[in-house]
Amino acid sequence: MKLQFEPFYQEYLDVLAAYDLASATMYTDQWTVAPKGGIPNSSAKMATLSKLAFKVENDPETVEKIKAYYQTLPEGSLEQKEVKMRLDELALSQNASIEEFEALTKARNEAEYQWHQAKENSDYAAFKPYLKDLMEKSIAYQKHSPKFTGNNIYDVFLDAYEPEMNEEKYDAFFQVIKEELPPLIQKIQKSGKKIDDQALREEFAIERQEKFMNTIMDYLQVDPDRVSLGTTEHPFTNFLSHNDMRITTHYYPNRFLSAILSTVHEYGHALYGLQMNEAFEGTMLNHGVGSAAHESQSRFLENHIGRSKAFWEANYPALVEQFPEFENVSVDELVDMINLSKPDLIRTEADELTYPLHILIRYELEKKIANGEMDYDTLPEQWADLYEKYLGVRPKTDAEGVLQDVHWSNGYLGYFPTYALGSAYAAQIFAAMQKQIDVEQVLKEGKMEVITNWLKDNVHHYAGSKTMAEIVELVSGEPFDPHYYVNYLKDKYSKLYQIQED
Ligand SMILES: [Zn+2]
Repeated sequence: MKLQFEPFYQEYLDVLAAYDLASATMYTDQWTVAPKGGIPNSSAKMATLSKLAFKVENDPETVEKIKAYYQTLPEGSLEQKEVKMRLDELALSQNASIEEFEALTKARNEAEYQWHQAKENSDYAAFKPYLKDLMEKSIAYQKHSPKFTGNNIYDVFLDAYEPEMNEEKYDAFFQVIKEELPPLIQKIQKSGKKIDDQALREEFAIERQEKFMNTIMDYLQVDPDRVSLGTTEHPFTNFLSHNDMRITTHYYPNRFLSAILSTVHEYGHALYGLQMNEAFEGTMLNHGVGSAAHESQSRFLENHIGRSKAFWEANYPALVEQFPEFENVSVDELVDMINLSKPDLIRTEADELTYPLHILIRYELEKKIANGEMDYDTLPEQWADLYEKYLGVRPKTDAEGVLQDVHWSNGYLGYFPTYALGSAYAAQIFAAMQKQIDVEQVLKEGKMEVITNWLKDNVHHYAGSKTMAEIVELVSGEPFDPHYYVNYLKDKYSKLYQIQED
């Protein structure tokens, strides 16, 4: 099935896709193999390309043509859905002035640069004016969205990252997180059971880690004709085309596990892209996939596959063969180490159980920012208070507190919550899969294709033609329910720490 568009519209898509491919290729090159010296030049050329693409995309004559074209499309067709999503996307830049757009871009670049400096010096005060300015500009800009009704600005941001999400739905979601998880985390702290993961912190030569990574990629049945793995500072995945996914990872001599789980996570993003309906390539039905939807697939692989006992049972012989250092560590001990939970300060290093609370904290602060209620002077203290409240730990410096993440310095309000929502979607999808497939057995036997095929048929092929909430409802036969997520976590961690559930 190929989507049928008028020639003018198909050409519009083709030209935008060419710009996209050029930028994505340059970006991937920049952050993997390019020498540092080349970055200023390629960044400047990428900015030029994105300006040109913006002009093509927003050309007034073309936009008018698209609006007229929309009226002619059959009701309920995928073509109509594509053009509708496109017009929604275009509306924001149509309503704002080019000066406003440029001022926002400038504020964003400035804030990100200042954030890097401030983080290095652990100096929030130096970053504060740039953050405040950027947030004010981002909020003012987002008010041009056709979805802004006068008093729902945070909804507009949330919807931009995950279609059809809003504050009310996230409030209900985080309410469950807030009620159910902190008591368990406290019980774990009191249980006295300590898991020693020193074996994972030993130094291993990177060449050895790379070799074992190949073992894991083979196990996952990563297709080398369609997926490549590069190395970078902060791992990401880039989608060049339906048959060309670039995943990246980062090796640390003394964090053996981090590289593996990071690769498995990024492969989850790539696999989603590989298995989307090919006919959607270059359209919003593909680009329009929300961040929570994407994160649900990366975390599905990372948490439900990569951290599972069956996965490590299957890969244990190869591990011990390549790393005799693990001979005295049993599979059970290894899996305990991989899943140990300890409340800490840094989100990106958080375990599966405490992770959503890191997100809850950001969500509560973002709500204040978006709704114009943030006192920027006391933001670091508010941050620290929330860490103390939910995780029982308190940052001593700005660098390990409010300055740790890049997102706000890019003006990304509403992005963080998608991380937690994605994990919750993954848990409900996993529960549905388990009703049809003996996942443990499949993993033990190394039949990864059974899992990837199921994901393709039940989740991936829809791409952005449905929201992930709709897909979750389709696969599980009931609406999204965060209890799947918290019950999965409670069950897993109660067993791991031998805690009686009440
Ligand atoms: Zn991800």
